[in-house]
Amino acid sequence: MSEAVRGRVTFANVTKMYGAVAAVEDTSFAIEPGQLVTLLGPSGCGKTTTLRMIAGLELPNRGKITIGSTDVTTLSATYRNVAMVFQSYALFPHMSVIENVSYGLRVSGMPKSESFANAEVAMEMVGLAGYGKRLPSELSGGQQQRVAVARAVVLNPEVLLLDEPLSNLDAKLRRHVREEIRALQQRLKLTTVYVTHDQEEAMAVSDRIIVMDKGRIAQDGTPRELYESPKSSFIAGFIGEANIFDCQVLKSGRSSKVAFAGIEFEINQTGIAVGPAKLIIRSSSIRLGDGPLPAIEAQLTSAAYLGDRILYGLMTKAGRLFHTEPSSNIPLEPGSNVRLQLDISQLRLTKS
Ligand code: ATP
Repeated sequence: MSEAVRGRVTFANVTKMYGAVAAVEDTSFAIEPGQLVTLLGPSGCGKTTTLRMIAGLELPNRGKITIGSTDVTTLSATYRNVAMVFQSYALFPHMSVIENVSYGLRVSGMPKSESFANAEVAMEMVGLAGYGKRLPSELSGGQQQRVAVARAVVLNPEVLLLDEPLSNLDAKLRRHVREEIRALQQRLKLTTVYVTHDQEEAMAVSDRIIVMDKGRIAQDGTPRELYESPKSSFIAGFIGEANIFDCQVLKSGRSSKVAFAGIEFEINQTGIAVGPAKLIIRSSSIRLGDGPLPAIEAQLTSAAYLGDRILYGLMTKAGRLFHTEPSSNIPLEPGSNVRLQLDISQLRLTKS
């Protein structure tokens, strides 16, 4: 196979039904070789079903799936060159670390000594050199997770699949391990599909994120594209913190004229039709106090100290709004009236 397509994964109009429920519906995307792409979305949106269809653990009812230059739509898991790391790790408890890591190679017929030598290399890659003789029960959660990753990468798969790989680790370790997985994936230039429902994790590790909602793709883009140019209020609310308000688009053209909370301003965004729309205001587009920018009045209703930041709750004519400021700034007292200036270059509009 040409190296140019090794690891490329495509879905063309794929649908997976469970009885009358469409877990995945008419979904199309392409994952380029060497990329780490995350499937992100709320519980039940179809992430795991999509991953399992790449693995061959589920077959679609309609559509076409390719891996590399092969049409794998109806090919069973055994004949696909993919490796999956499960949320539960699924290690064999009675086998040592090296037996776990070399298991897939042994099953495919590789002699013991060669499979052990390969397993040693994979264990070294994930920082487990010297742990070969231990049983999984003699390892920490983070180390067990590494065994699961080593067991997958030792197979030199065309595609690595990771299903919520960090969900059994505590928050601090999770950040550390996700950096390790990303570094390994980049070093091996391994096409990787990663499932999570944690948007921060998705943003930290991904070349691209496919956000799913109710079995369909809500948006597909780089972390920055999703954050800065959300296509819908669902995406804006899911990727980063956002205040989402109803507004009216009065004029549409090279920019959009907007009426919101009793003031009017122009946003440098095209393609938003005249009529009702959603205005997305993130903390980074709010300046507290007087100044030249379009401003709305607000009353401060709450202040929560979060260490490096203070989270303010504010009531405006348009409704409740949250805003964070560095805690090194002079704190504001609940009950006080403030002006919120809007940096309109950072505001975004969506139709839905
Ligand atoms: P979570 O984050 O909770 O794991 P998910 O996004 O991975 O969710 P899926 O597991 O892909 O979601 O499920 C998508 C939909 O398909 C859900 O409505 C789920 O109830 C349904 N579903 C998944 N597996 C089955 C099954 N084996 N039989 C019937 N329905 C299923």
